[in-house]
Formats: sequence, C-alpha cells, structure tokens
Amino acid sequence: MVKERIFSGIQPTGVIHLGNYVGALKNWVALQDEYDCIFSIVDYHAITIEYDVESFRESILNAARTLMACGINPDTCRLFIQSAVPEHTELTWILNCITPLGDLERMTQFKDKSQQHRGNINVGLLDYPVLQAADIVLYKSHVVPVGEDQLQHIELTRRIARRFNNRFGDTFPEPRYLLSHTPKIMGLDGKTKMSKSLNNYIGILEPPDDIWEKLRTSVTDENRKRRNDPGNPEICNLFTMHKSFSSQDDIITINRQCRTAEIGCIECKKKLFENMMRELEPIQQKAAELKKTPDVVYGALAKGARQCREIATRVMEEVRVKVGIRVQRDA
Ligand code: ADP
Repeated sequence: MVKERIFSGIQPTGVIHLGNYVGALKNWVALQDEYDCIFSIVDYHAITIEYDVESFRESILNAARTLMACGINPDTCRLFIQSAVPEHTELTWILNCITPLGDLERMTQFKDKSQQHRGNINVGLLDYPVLQAADIVLYKSHVVPVGEDQLQHIELTRRIARRFNNRFGDTFPEPRYLLSHTPKIMGLDGKTKMSKSLNNYIGILEPPDDIWEKLRTSVTDENRKRRNDPGNPEICNLFTMHKSFSSQDDIITINRQCRTAEIGCIECKKKLFENMMRELEPIQQKAAELKKTPDVVYGALAKGARQCREIATRVMEEVRVKVGIRVQRDA
C-alpha cells in the first residue's frame, strides 16, 4: 500500500524547547514508520526576524542534531535543510501571485510577530505562510503534523492549494493537519505560548539543574493560593506537561491528588521533573554523541536534500508547464 506523505518543519532559531518537542517532534517520531515523511529545518523562515549571522550555521546544525537525537531516523524519512532545495522559494513566488494580500494580513502569527518585532516588519514576515504553503505542497503532502499555533497557516495552505488547482488544473492535494495529544504548551509564565522568540521556554537540551530551576519557579494554577487549596489540573500548564511525560497511572494519581490538595505544586513539579528527565536524558546523551560525529549529521542532511531535490525538480517542472511559463515546442 502506498503511504500518505507527511511534511513538517521547524525553525533553527535558538534552542528547541518543550513546546516544539511535545507539540510536534514527539509526533513526528511516532509517525515516521506509518507515513512517508519529509522533515525540514526551515532556515528561510528563520531569517524573517533579526538573527545572528555568525551563530546561525551552528543553530541549523544544532536543530539537525536535536531532531536526530529525538529519534528522527534519516534512513526511513528525509531530513533536510530547506535552503538546500531552491524550488521552495521558486514555488513561493508562483503561490504569491494567487494569494490575496488580505489573507496574509489576517494571520494571527503575523499580527503577533509585528508587535514583537516592531522595528523589523519586513515583507518576509508577511509572506511567511506562503513559503510554508510552498514547503508543504511542493512534495504533494497529505498530512502536516503541527502544534495548535499552526492551524490557521494550514487552513491557508489548503485554500492556496485549492485556488491553484481551480486555476491551473488538479495538481496539489489539500493537506490536513494532525495534532499531538498536547498541541499547546504554555510558557513558564503560564500565560503565553512557549516560544523561542519569547524568553519563556525550557530547552530540551538544557542541563537538568537548569530545567529543574525553571520548572520549580514556573506558574501553575493561579487560583491555588495556599498549599491546602484544591487545584484544578485542567487549567495548569504543568498538568498538560504531565500528559506528555508521565505514565497513565501517574497522570490519574496526580489529577486526584491535585484536586484534593493531597499534594502541593512543588511535589507535582518534582514528579514531572523525574519523568521528564527519564525521557530527555537519553536524548541529551545522543545529541552530545552526534556533536562529536558531525559527519553523521552532514551525511543525513546531504542524503535528505538529494532525495527532496529529486521530488521537487519533478513537481516544479509540472507546475511551470501548468502555469504557462515553460515554453515548449509544439511538435
Ligand atoms: P517557535 O514557535 O518556537 O518558533 P516553530 O515555529 O519552529 O517554533 O515550530 C515548530 C513546531 O513546534 C510547529 O509544529 C509548532 O506548531 C510547534 N510548537 C511551537 N511552539 C509550541 C508550543 N508552545 N506548544 C505546542 N507546539 C508548539
């Protein structure tokens, strides 16, 4: 049976955090045998905000190492750096020409980022979702595993694919999103989404002591003022994390103990830390090993890029002919 194709990407900005991990990466790893997977480190997306040119290269490599350490297997899926396949930006231009400006101005992420980066509201920031649509449809992908923050962009990708198909003939599937069990992790303040661009995250490769310090001081259910007040796990970011890192038994127990004030937040955090580190420590070790063997990472990325270029060349040729810019002899 032919497997459905998955595409998803991650920006190489700063560190990969718990939100990326539980909202997207864990799902990527879980899906990689069931689907034909393409995973990308989307460097062109990352340059839409201010970045440090000197350390950018290392950030890209760090992202690749982290993905592989999390369990992305370059033998079964394709892992590559977006800019290694120039067709992504070529297709973006064509999709730009069928995307209404108003659709982009309405995007929540554009509005948020325009607030955060007031001194640098560049065209790339606005066009970001079109590049994302090009990333996805270039491989005729069917499924896109993402966190909740990306749903509006996937909906736009569907509209762009539909518009292209209506105008130029059936070409792209309308991709559907796939959420993980924990599609939205809040930051340490418990209020804003955990994000690389806001300093409210826990990096998955941070030293255990730093992770504990951040967890220990993170905001829980704010209505629980005293140790003996019963808590409400449904509105607590820590409980959302338990759902991703703890066993079913632990989740049931924590839920009950929190509601009855049998345990306080600090005990809940200690349990979470213990379960979290059981999962993160092997990833941290693997990432450290990969740092010592850069050829393994370069090799995986080169192979992934080669395989993706093959698909992209074919699809782009079909697109050029369909939109009428490839002049062919009649006979
Ligand atoms: P960031 O928002 O930190 O810059 P990316 O844009 O690179 O991260 O997103 C990579 C993936 O991680 C996307 O699928 C996105 O939906 C997911 N993701 C990012 N932040 C969170 C979060 N706080 N909770 C759940 N998923 C998230």
